[in-house]
Amino acid sequence: ASGDTLLRDPRHNKGLAFTEKERDAHYLRGLLPPAIMSQELQEKRLVHSIRQYQVPLQRYMALMDLKERNERLFYKLLIDNVEEFLPVVYDPTVGEACQKYGSIFMRPQGLYISLKERGKILEVLKNWHEKSIQVIVVTDGGRILGLGDLGCQGMGIPVGKLALYTALGGVRPSACLPITIDVGTNNEELLKDEFYIGLKQRRVVGQEYRDFLQEFMTAVKQNYGENVLIQFEDFANHNAFDLLSRYRSTHLVFNDDIQGTAAVVLAGINAALKFVEGSLSDHTYLFLGAGEAGTGIAELIAYEISKQTNAPLEEARKKIWLLDSKGLIVTSRIDSLQNFKKPWAHEHEPVKNLLDAIKAIKPTALIGSAEIGQEIIESMASINEKPVILALSNPTPQSECTAEQAYTWSKGRAIFASGSPFDPVEYNGKVYAPGQANNAYIFPGFGLGLVISGAGA
Ligand code: NAP
Ligand code: MN
Repeated sequence: ASGDTLLRDPRHNKGLAFTEKERDAHYLRGLLPPAIMSQELQEKRLVHSIRQYQVPLQRYMALMDLKERNERLFYKLLIDNVEEFLPVVYDPTVGEACQKYGSIFMRPQGLYISLKERGKILEVLKNWHEKSIQVIVVTDGGRILGLGDLGCQGMGIPVGKLALYTALGGVRPSACLPITIDVGTNNEELLKDEFYIGLKQRRVVGQEYRDFLQEFMTAVKQNYGENVLIQFEDFANHNAFDLLSRYRSTHLVFNDDIQGTAAVVLAGINAALKFVEGSLSDHTYLFLGAGEAGTGIAELIAYEISKQTNAPLEEARKKIWLLDSKGLIVTSRIDSLQNFKKPWAHEHEPVKNLLDAIKAIKPTALIGSAEIGQEIIESMASINEKPVILALSNPTPQSECTAEQAYTWSKGRAIFASGSPFDPVEYNGKVYAPGQANNAYIFPGFGLGLVISGAGA
């Protein structure tokens, strides 16, 4: 064994923390300067140097570079400084990293499975250096955060999510596998970009897409066994709902955007109920956005209301209204609605926009996964003493409104949480600390539970 190989292996490299004895035993003499630096001291030095970077993307690159050099130190640093570095490794900075993945591309940190590998996916899985995998986070880049189709550059998301599996959930890094499936992209800019790292073709759809994913799902189970957990992440919504319903009874799967988000938001609403009158079923909910996040959350709230009140699910759903890009979801639209929206079509006359919907429905809670402006917050504040407002879109520039706007426009009365983190806001001499409603609060623990309990499909 050469010392050089050890230094280049991020899983075992300790850099200057190697002791005298280890330096002798592993042929490291001369390959390192003489100083011995404890992990604590290395961490202190790195935190200090990363803080020098003002540009978030530079911090991201410095952290990813560390991950590729000295994995233990990376996780130590992340665990000890979660609040500071989570927004770098994860949302919001990871969004910018994905947008620029082509130009900052360093060492591949996960597995790329493209249409070129059709018929050979099992072999591709065998190329990955770790054999015993417990958790896979997979995307096809179809809807990366609120940034749209980023194709192959979506890889930043599974990498970031899995870093949290380790830092927050305690799952071994070697048991985590980030995967990006490349079936093309419909993003014109990427198709023209000479630095784009993915296939330069439009997305395959329909049966061809389904067959390719079928090969993938079969290969994963064949290679890693029944109990490997597959987290679907940031697929465009038609594929997301389709994959979830197709594989939920044969594979150990969940969709974080639909189900993870739902769990966190229900918890958030329960927390908000401590500040406002009434129980879950006394409230009226209006969703801006009726996609994965919106319908996923709506369904879990309805399920919980039906459990608490012994009412049928269809009855509970009537407390919940959804609005998409074409307006309020009402029965007269049913024929043209995608399947996942159909359960939410209630009897009402057509309503075109959010402001009119607020006036018509008089919601007590507004949950946004698509923009909320000043009029909207003011309107919510005019009909509620304490309007509950959740702005879920990511990353920060996509957020429906900022924490400052929510507090200012509601005159400090909103109970507010957002998908990406915001700093506390001072309004009229009082400090308001917004909550964060992000599935990062659930999936690492949820995944850990599935893994250690040995759950199957
Ligand atoms: P999605 O499935 O594509 O759904 C988006 C929905 O928003 C669609 O129903 C769309 O309408 C609607 N919409 C878009 N623009 C609109 C407008 N101007 N007015 C009314 N409705 C509009 O996406 P998603 O998975 O739900 O994600 C949406 C956002 O939530 C993204 O920014 C994502 O990053 C964020 N998100 C956050 C979390 C979290 O943990 N905080 C988790 C998941 C997702 P149509 O159906 O008519 O197209
Ligand atoms: Mn997501």
